[in-house]
Amino acid sequence: MFPWLAYSKCKEGAYCKYCIVFAFSGGGVGHQKLGKLVKYPMVKYKDALKELQNHQNNDYHRLSTQRANDFLINFENTNNKSVNVLLDKHKQQTIEYNRKRLMPIVKTILFCARHNIPLRGHREMGSMASGNVRDFCLNGEQGVFRGLLAFRIECGDTDLLNHLETAPKNCTMISPQIQNEVIEAIGSIKGQDQFGPIFLTHNSFGPILKTRLD
Ligand SMILES: [Zn+2]
Repeated sequence: MFPWLAYSKCKEGAYCKYCIVFAFSGGGVGHQKLGKLVKYPMVKYKDALKELQNHQNNDYHRLSTQRANDFLINFENTNNKSVNVLLDKHKQQTIEYNRKRLMPIVKTILFCARHNIPLRGHREMGSMASGNVRDFCLNGEQGVFRGLLAFRIECGDTDLLNHLETAPKNCTMISPQIQNEVIEAIGSIKGQDQFGPIFLTHNSFGPILKTRLD
């Protein structure tokens, strides 16, 4: 269940064997700090399962795991891959990971654009990590955008659920400000990629731009 978990006889506690070697400074989304299981051992096990799962969801842990796996593959294959190639791979994986987080949010904004649905609602702010809040969204008590996100989760979008549950409060990427930034980013690439034809043929971007949440 936790292949990274190791027990230190000397320190009499549990550590993450990947992070103690490969997590250099924490970081990642929200600049998570290194602490229990890395800088010092876990010695109380009352809420161990939850704490271990939380650790496993940290960005720096994912990165450490990747570094450890790369190191082992490289070591076992006695493969002299250059550091640059490995760093590129990490970069690529971070990009893929962030893309996975952002994609449901961008797709939901695009859905609204294609159907001329304003994003605006009665309430646009706050975390959507709790099931209660998502129920409010599903019941139409908050904005359409938040309602659609809740609907995606109800239909089994585990990537989105995982993102909303694990992202730090300042990095959920669902605030009105981020919605506007996404709209502007899509607008700026209009005609240059796959999104272009949607706006050019259906002309649906104009109405949504008018519903900006300023
Ligand atoms: Zn770890």
